[in-house]
Amino acid sequence: MDRIVIVGAGQAGFQAAASLREAGFSGSLILVGDEAALPYQRPPLSKAYLAGKTDARGLLLRQESFFAEHRIDHRAGTRVTALDRGARQVRLSDGGSLGYDHLILATGTRNRTLPVPGADLAGVRQLRSLDDADALRAAIEGIRRIVVVGAGFIGLEFAAVCAARGLSVTVIEAAERVMARAVSPETSQAFRAFHEEAGVAFLFGAGVTAIEGEGGRVAAVRTADGQSLPADLVVVGIGVVPNQELAEDAGLAVRDGIEVDAFLATSDPAISAIGDCVRFPTRFAAGLPGGDRVRIESVQNAVDQGRCLAARLIGRPAAYDAVPWFWSDQGPRKLQIAGLAAPDDASVLRRASAGFSVFRFRDGRLSAVESVDRAADHMAARRLLAAGRTLTPEQASDPGFDLKALAT
Ligand code: FAD
Repeated sequence: MDRIVIVGAGQAGFQAAASLREAGFSGSLILVGDEAALPYQRPPLSKAYLAGKTDARGLLLRQESFFAEHRIDHRAGTRVTALDRGARQVRLSDGGSLGYDHLILATGTRNRTLPVPGADLAGVRQLRSLDDADALRAAIEGIRRIVVVGAGFIGLEFAAVCAARGLSVTVIEAAERVMARAVSPETSQAFRAFHEEAGVAFLFGAGVTAIEGEGGRVAAVRTADGQSLPADLVVVGIGVVPNQELAEDAGLAVRDGIEVDAFLATSDPAISAIGDCVRFPTRFAAGLPGGDRVRIESVQNAVDQGRCLAARLIGRPAAYDAVPWFWSDQGPRKLQIAGLAAPDDASVLRRASAGFSVFRFRDGRLSAVESVDRAADHMAARRLLAAGRTLTPEQASDPGFDLKALAT
């Protein structure tokens, strides 16, 4: 294989490039990304970077010299606009085109927008990129009232940083609890309490019907039950949609993500896809509402898929089988999740003197573990899930039961 082109210079695309070189790929490697910056980590954008505890250089996955040293041709600020599968070429926003022997799609996701009047007013913002984070860092200077729409991970992380600065923060959520799609009612309840103690106010079961403005700027958020919440800044965090249009327009199979097989190949053997933009089969999704295929938005998934694909492309194929895991830092609390839970999986609480874990069970088997300030439980859970081992609910709830021993 002479040339591999990677579309998307985020966490997954960067990892594939770095792992290909590490594994000895000696051909041409081109990493095309539409953002201006060198590949960077997104998680700190809603945590340390937003809080001013790290700078843009601290976000970089590697410094500039790495790319030259590893002969990774990073084309920053360049968008791939179309795929020509017949000619094995991609078209670029600068008018050029690139041929490939193998193409990797690592295009990630983009934020869902709020479909209500006023959503385009100045002062209505989102958080996905470094540019968004820079704009938000500037926007929270000298204001008082913030409304966050959506009590998902990013909305809550943002709310925690702003509350810690003494700003007035209200989070509006359509569901009845925080992080409802991702965690158990027990974990939701605990995080609601953490945020309320820090001064965040919540409005649950509330739909946003309009953003009201004054002189072109946001002034308030109107809810379906007629409330009008004054706001100097509105941050919308209501989930993402996969960037799958390039694949779709080229006739590849898509369904809430680019469809790939267990080896991360698309329906065209010359094209693979990795990271937030793909839907893939995994044993960890068995019994979930969507069947055994999922799309996962996490650093772990982007990194492990980048590594797995690089191994296949240099001749060491293995099915992707990594345990899904995730973390979210909200104020001083660290939430870590191993595995994938369905909304109605049973919950078993394991308390400790500091922190707790919620063990989730599906059909009597361990499906996921949510740990709050319990890194040891999280690490044990990852090992248990990887080995396909389970435990009884009684063992899970017994703080004296040696999880570590079971996991090793
Ligand atoms: P991305 O990192 O999004 O990269 C995709 C890149 O492709 C983007 O730069 C995009 O602009 C580019 N692109 C798209 N289309 C094209 C095109 N046609 N041509 C060229 N370039 C293109 N995960 C965790 O596990 N823990 C966390 O605490 C956490 N916190 C997060 C906080 C924030 C604010 C955000 C936004 C995400 C967070 N995540 C977290 C999620 C994590 O960052 C993502 O799962 C990860 O970045 C996915 O990597 P990716 O490469 O698939 O996509």
